[in-house]
Amino acid sequence: MSIPFIDLQAQRKALGPLLDEAIKRVLERGDFIQGKEVQEFEEALSLFTGAVHSLTCGNGTDALTLVGMAEGLGAGDAVFVPAFTFVATAEAFSVLGATPYLIDVDPITFNLSVESLKQGIADSKLAGLKPKMVVAVDLFGQPANYNSIKDVSEEHGLILVADAAQAFGASLYGKRVGTLADYTTLSFFPAKPLGCYGDGGAILTDLDGKATLIRSLMQHGKGGEKYDNVNIGLNSRLDTIQAAILLEKLKVFEDELSSRNEIAKRYSKSLEEFAETPSLIEGAISNWAQYTIKLERRDEVQSKLKEVGVPTAVYYPKPLNQQNAYMHYPVVSSGVTVSEKLASQVLSLPMHAYMPEKTQQQIIEHVIDAITQ
Ligand SMILES: *Cc1c(COP(=O)(O)O)cnc(C)c1O
Repeated sequence: MSIPFIDLQAQRKALGPLLDEAIKRVLERGDFIQGKEVQEFEEALSLFTGAVHSLTCGNGTDALTLVGMAEGLGAGDAVFVPAFTFVATAEAFSVLGATPYLIDVDPITFNLSVESLKQGIADSKLAGLKPKMVVAVDLFGQPANYNSIKDVSEEHGLILVADAAQAFGASLYGKRVGTLADYTTLSFFPAKPLGCYGDGGAILTDLDGKATLIRSLMQHGKGGEKYDNVNIGLNSRLDTIQAAILLEKLKVFEDELSSRNEIAKRYSKSLEEFAETPSLIEGAISNWAQYTIKLERRDEVQSKLKEVGVPTAVYYPKPLNQQNAYMHYPVVSSGVTVSEKLASQVLSLPMHAYMPEKTQQQIIEHVIDAITQ
């Protein structure tokens, strides 16, 4: 039996010739940079999420860096990030010379802990840093607890950023990801729920002035004319071919979201008595970028599953405070013990919108066997 962890080819088959035709249209027109579909896709993103401005860029990491640049982050500025995330959440601000300040996450949702954030803000001031920004990550597709986080960010004058690289299409109390923070960043890396066939990203915001600034920053700090440069920026754009692919994929995305939710429901129903299955906060709808369970004997279960041909993944085996390049950054005084524990417990199971029910049943049986044996 050969089960894919994420089956991108099944999606390609389901879309039929639409993707090839979309790519061909760009090839024939030749507007590879900032072409027709880039603008169309940005409009579609705003329509889908409700965000006023959608600005596509090169990837999800650049999206975060561009937000940091738009807010003028630099030396002495503290950016609060969860220790349990993909490295880009911190890296994007390290490159600007700002200080990623590592805080802990909630053991149930894996998302930013508000208590830990409060502690981090107090600590950072004592350490002589300026608390500037908090980056909440919507890990595995579940929105962070924005209502509580917003109370804290507003009280302390922090800019609130949603690193929603994994959470496009998710929502909180009926509000779509893209409208839950001052800035939302997205990634269209192929394995993300809405993925292109290369790198891609976007920034969503309702802030008019900042949107204009980011539009300039992502094109070498461009001014009104082509060779007029008013800011020091980056070269970070979404290719027209990728935008064309994303436009086609967005048309079936709602259906894919329903399918992912069905699959997650089936996993939970079958596995909840054998492992700690995911729980959502009140009002949250996940896009199930990953379906991640918690296990005490995780490594043993993972290797048993590998033997029987069930692929799984560990996101993430090390919290940021244990990564060589990030060890020197400050950690909240109350510690990131939840992040450290989760790194040894989490296991993500195969998840994609095109998984046949029969395949899922086989996976479930193998997971139960591996846990109970
Ligand atoms: C994927 C991811 C990113 C980075 O996105 P890229 O497009 O690969 O640069 C950032 N943050 C999180 C949480 C991610 O999962």
